[in-house]
Amino acid sequence: MNYADAARIATILKNLWWKQTTLEKADVVIFDTCSVRQKSEDKITWKLKEIPTNKKIWITGCMVQHNLKQNRIAEDKKLARNWETKFKSWNFIWDLKQVDLQDIPFLINEVYQPLWTTLKKKFPNLELMFRIDDVHLLPKFLKYLWYKVNEKETKKLSTYMDLIPEVANQTENPLVKTAYVPIGTGCNQFCSYCIVPFARGLERYRSVDDILKEIKYWLKKWKEEIVLLGQIVNKHPEFTKILKETLKLPQLKWLRYTSPYPTFYNDEIFALHENEEKLCPHIHIPVQSGSNKILKLMNRGYTVEQFKEFINKIRNLKRDISITSDIIVGFSNETEEDFQQTLDLVEYSRFDMIYTGIYSPRPNTLAYKTLKDNVDKKTKQVRWKKINNLLYKISEENNKKEIWKIREAMIVGSKKDKNWKEIFYGYTDNFKNIELEDFSFEEIWKVINVKIINWTSLKLFWQF
Ligand code: SF4
Repeated sequence: MNYADAARIATILKNLWWKQTTLEKADVVIFDTCSVRQKSEDKITWKLKEIPTNKKIWITGCMVQHNLKQNRIAEDKKLARNWETKFKSWNFIWDLKQVDLQDIPFLINEVYQPLWTTLKKKFPNLELMFRIDDVHLLPKFLKYLWYKVNEKETKKLSTYMDLIPEVANQTENPLVKTAYVPIGTGCNQFCSYCIVPFARGLERYRSVDDILKEIKYWLKKWKEEIVLLGQIVNKHPEFTKILKETLKLPQLKWLRYTSPYPTFYNDEIFALHENEEKLCPHIHIPVQSGSNKILKLMNRGYTVEQFKEFINKIRNLKRDISITSDIIVGFSNETEEDFQQTLDLVEYSRFDMIYTGIYSPRPNTLAYKTLKDNVDKKTKQVRWKKINNLLYKISEENNKKEIWKIREAMIVGSKKDKNWKEIFYGYTDNFKNIELEDFSFEEIWKVINVKIINWTSLKLFWQF
């Protein structure tokens, strides 16, 4: 999602004749932040220290939005009245189109408290803090900050959702073959631990036409892998249609999507996974816990039994699909028995990879307000380790089955090993890490066929 955000920021600024450049040459450094865990926010504060004081700093993204203080907006009675329909009882406002220059102070900087004051004290070169949802208002913000902006640009307002990131790359490397396309943003699920609904707002979905227009734009720019994004990506009312229409596009090599939710799958999506070669044989399905008691406390809306049924459906397809997941360890009230049930579910599901997070309460969430963070740090770490040890065992067994198979893979870079030998790395269509010694730099960023010749728990090794 941050790559997609960055492309939208870059598009707006490029239209104002700003140039994307390296950190050394930049006058302004923009941070698009994550706040899913406290650790993500701590990382930003740490990174800010590396920015020389002669460069301006701008911050946007999730870390900003959940600090929005509505009472600051309410100070201006007329504005509060005008924006009344934009407010919700939660800590955010809807997409704004009609914004006058005098309204800008209620959308940037001081409105994000206490974050703005805390960071501004430490980093006086911090110049701008804004919601990513207001990215289309950047020309107006810049005008307000006395940058030279053509009046015409301040009037071109399409919201985050209908902004097609033409003229921009998603990363600084134009050779990258992957494009991330948001099909929706925000979430209505309100899992009790999750800050996303507060950081990105409620669900909004893009039209199929806009989505396809953006996908075609990236394919024309030689991208080969399209990744559809959404907090619950398969909840888009026309998700199946988006998959089918994208799969028809001739330049496409790989199609992925993340993150889906088990309860929003249908048989048509499973059939596409079985029959459509371009739809990658990989599903990333966050489960979070293997205990019904904890799933209920998390407000996940499914049971372990339903999740197992979902896994069975994938395993019964005629095509082998790798499955990865997210799990939180040490959530409030998680006992040894609950944790053991999570281990049992991991064993049952035979995940190829698990992104394990240690629970940390996030402001505004239901768990933060109503549940005690009562699993001690040491226990959390022990559980984290146990789950990873089990993952290594299972993924090694899974990877062993890959031996001698021919797979599609994309090589995305190289690094030196401890003997200073060049090692090339990338990932397969079923989303496994892959490494090779003898390869050519010219082949990087191409989808190629490889033969798997060796394996470890987290990697495959191959022959070209
Ligand atoms: S589904 Fe739950 S975990 Fe995922 S973004 Fe929505 S609230 Fe957060």
